[in-house]
Amino acid sequence: MRVAIIGAGVSGLACAIELEKNGIEPDIFEEKYMIGELFDHCAALLEVITKPVGDPLEYLKTDFGLNIKSMQMVNSIHMHGCNVNREIKRNHLGYFFIRGQSGDSVENQLYRKLNTKVKFDTAADYRDLMDDYDYVVIATGNNSVSKSVGCWQDLVDTWVYGSEVIGTFDPSALHMWMDTRYSKSGYAYLAPFDSRRATLALVIPYISGEEMDYYWEKFWEIANLPYSVVKTFKLDHVSGYVMPMIYKNLLFIGSAAGGIEPFLGFGQYFALISGTLAARAIYKGENYENSMKQYRDKNMEMLEFRKALDSLSNEEIDIIIRGLSTPFVRKLIYSSDFNIVKYGSLFVKELFSRFRVDYRR
Ligand SMILES: Cc1cc2nc3c(=O)[nH]c(=O)nc-3n(C[C@H](O)[C@H](O)[C@H](O)COP(=O)(O)OP(=O)(O)OC[C@H]3O[C@@H](n4cnc5c(N)ncnc54)[C@H](O)[C@@H]3O)c2cc1C
Repeated sequence: MRVAIIGAGVSGLACAIELEKNGIEPDIFEEKYMIGELFDHCAALLEVITKPVGDPLEYLKTDFGLNIKSMQMVNSIHMHGCNVNREIKRNHLGYFFIRGQSGDSVENQLYRKLNTKVKFDTAADYRDLMDDYDYVVIATGNNSVSKSVGCWQDLVDTWVYGSEVIGTFDPSALHMWMDTRYSKSGYAYLAPFDSRRATLALVIPYISGEEMDYYWEKFWEIANLPYSVVKTFKLDHVSGYVMPMIYKNLLFIGSAAGGIEPFLGFGQYFALISGTLAARAIYKGENYENSMKQYRDKNMEMLEFRKALDSLSNEEIDIIIRGLSTPFVRKLIYSSDFNIVKYGSLFVKELFSRFRVDYRR
């Protein structure tokens, strides 16, 4: 069987590994000259979002055969609102990973597991490959192909202004800022590589790239953080819904399959799983749409969460931050199977639609 994979990112490599383990050597095309995003950044995976699977790294290992090493565990989450700061401290809230060119990056870990050589410096066009291959896996990290064949529907368009900063950091602490003056209904986060270097990024939905520059400056002005910026990057993150996920002999995986969830903009977990499940659809004939359903449903729950947060004022955000750090809510979220993503959005909508008049700006 002949399989082509366009894109040697996280999803494409996960797909190639699973195919290779099962006797299929795919042709992998990568337009860059090497593996990994051109800038290093620290990515997070939070267990509260991957519930109810328990430890997500263990789940990726046992159910998908992907043994990935994290850089560090997340052991505390610090939430900063306009007038409130709260900390959730607990072992095992999630993981930090390095992404990019580093030898330990997720992409390079995956690449080392593969025997098949990637064809670098080769921008592939799916139209040139469809006739020559039994399957063409679209792992391009964007919606260009899914959109051009009419399978893509936009959900949320988000801009990310990211930076690498130096300062003094707790390597196991994730910081998140939510303040409508600079993040609108989005957020900023700090994810450390180590005790001296971190990724600091501002993530805002429904704005343009030019507006993003304004909010980045506003963020620094208001948050007043004691860090120095070494590098910056700015990019557009589009969350979407892809239907169908198999069109003719094209299979969509990762962000090309709408894998960027619409609330935090995370997508690495979806990319790894969709790559592996697409490979199983190819060599075992498993139903790809069915096996991806639960992960796509989760993204739609995240969309509801995004919508619930879209209209909140700073006072309301501060109430949520205070609420999330109370012992009862912490226990419910972190020590039970309670689905905070699904029911949290309903709760937020209900709470603020009833009592909004009291504290809206
Ligand atoms: C700044 C930033 C921070 C992020 N933070 C997090 C986080 O904290 N947690 C999280 O879970 N997710 C995070 N994400 C999202 C996560 O990185 C993506 O969901 C994941 O990388 C998607 O994997 P992918 O394989 O679909 O695409 P990518 O990893 O982007 O790979 C796509 C590959 O395809 C190649 N390509 C594209 N077109 C062609 C073509 N025509 N021919 C050949 N090659 C092509 C590209 O060069 C690239 O190598 C972040 C993303 C960014 C950019």
